[in-house]
Amino acid sequence: MIRTDVLIIGAGLLGCFTARNLTRYDIDITVLEKEDDVCRGISKANTGIIYSGYDHKPGSEKHKLCVQANEAFDRLCNELEVPFRRPGSLMISYGPKGDAVIARKYRDGIEGGTQGLKLLSGNEAEEMEPALAKGITSALYSAGTGTVDPWELCIAAYENARDNGAKFVFGCRVTGLRRENGGFIAETQGETYFARAVVNAAGLSSDAVREMTEKPLIRLFPTAADYMVLDRPEGSIVDHVIFHEGEDGKGLTLVPTVDGNLLIGPTNRDVSEDEAEERDMRTDRAGLDLLKELCGEIVPEADLSRQIRTFGSLRPNPYYVTLCAGDVIKRDKNIKDIRITEDDGLFSLIGVKTPGLTFSNELGNIVADKAASYAGRTELNPDFDPHRKAIVRARDLSEEERAGLICRDPAYGEVICSCMDVTRSEVLQAIERGAHDFESAKRRTGAGFGRCQGSRCHRRIMDIIAKEE
Ligand SMILES: Cc1cc2nc3c(=O)[nH]c(=O)nc-3n(C[C@H](O)[C@H](O)[C@H](O)COP(=O)(O)OP(=O)(O)OC[C@H]3O[C@@H](n4cnc5c(N)ncnc54)[C@H](O)[C@@H]3O)c2cc1C
Repeated sequence: MIRTDVLIIGAGLLGCFTARNLTRYDIDITVLEKEDDVCRGISKANTGIIYSGYDHKPGSEKHKLCVQANEAFDRLCNELEVPFRRPGSLMISYGPKGDAVIARKYRDGIEGGTQGLKLLSGNEAEEMEPALAKGITSALYSAGTGTVDPWELCIAAYENARDNGAKFVFGCRVTGLRRENGGFIAETQGETYFARAVVNAAGLSSDAVREMTEKPLIRLFPTAADYMVLDRPEGSIVDHVIFHEGEDGKGLTLVPTVDGNLLIGPTNRDVSEDEAEERDMRTDRAGLDLLKELCGEIVPEADLSRQIRTFGSLRPNPYYVTLCAGDVIKRDKNIKDIRITEDDGLFSLIGVKTPGLTFSNELGNIVADKAASYAGRTELNPDFDPHRKAIVRARDLSEEERAGLICRDPAYGEVICSCMDVTRSEVLQAIERGAHDFESAKRRTGAGFGRCQGSRCHRRIMDIIAKEE
């Protein structure tokens, strides 16, 4: 049996940031992840927006954490060397219902202390974003809204946690959890683990993981989201993140990503019981068609033939449930705020939806403090270093800088992915850091994210991995 102070189940954003924050303490941490890498759940399939806070009810925990996280995001990305942009956002409407929503969000934002908010007329918004369809009736500008690649952030948190001493075990599904000897025994397909405290960051399975030891309290009832990504030139069609507040409740979000693509989505559609049961993140033809239709209405100049990728996600919608004569009954209202359930040493993060990416470091910090304190290990780690070095990306350098780098490391002279301008050296460094297949190399270097979606570099990357492993 392997003993550890704190066991974290799940290596998405919340598991990785909890691990990172726990390494501030002198404590033994083990993270178990069922997939073969970090960031394989909803942490990789979201909109990548760093929210400024006006979207959440003033006074709620979500709101407080979001405002705090937004202010701290530049520092976090500097520490972890993660690319981050703050293009600001425009929420736009084309009619009275949308106008009312915008006016309410503005009031909430001001009341909640979100900085950089401005109510705009339709004309002002159209001047700022000429590619949007004419007829905007009002808009809300938020200067603090940003965008980040969620997997870059998650990988950075993972690497920083690992460098500070957290142990990660991949391909390790927790199949059972029980209390024993003042702690927890976690069963997996391989080893058995004993821990004083457990952090349940199992995303879409966090309700099921909690119920391995506790009575049902909160269950997830997922709805699905579809996304489309347009190739890089289209990323510059808008300068800001655009939130379209539709009159019929259907809205569209447009995100000019840090890599210059245009991310379009998400839809919000019901899923069949089977899909929900399997926690399967797939796209749906009708969902993608709806995105295309809304795009045609809101941003008619967008060239949808430049679509390079689609992906699906699931929203982990949390509801309180009641046990009644052996049946689990879903209560009417879903849970809007964040709730960390604490069951005598088991800390569960169930149903953390938007803006969970924005405040993943802050929420991870709160849970880390609770778990360290429960495990009785609150002495600080004198060697903790919040900094993590990123792989230097050839595509971010000037010709002169690139030439200098090639002199020091000739592998920077060989381009492996021409769409994204990724070199052999970057792929080699990704392998050193844990990439073991195309997907994990792609997430660490950006190779395969361009127009051909890896059809030209896939084989070359697999050859490099085969030689290096
Ligand atoms: C459609 C959508 C859009 C969003 N957009 C935004 C946004 O723009 N901005 C924002 O701030 N937030 C956004 N969010 C919220 C954000 O993505 C989530 O809050 C965050 O990713 C949650 O991370 P997580 O670690 O809880 O989950 P996950 O990333 O799903 O991680 C859970 C991990 O647990 C593992 N696991 C599960 N069961 C087990 C087990 N038994 N044993 C071992 N491992 C297990 C899984 O494999 C997975 O890797 C969005 C969410 C959704 C759904």
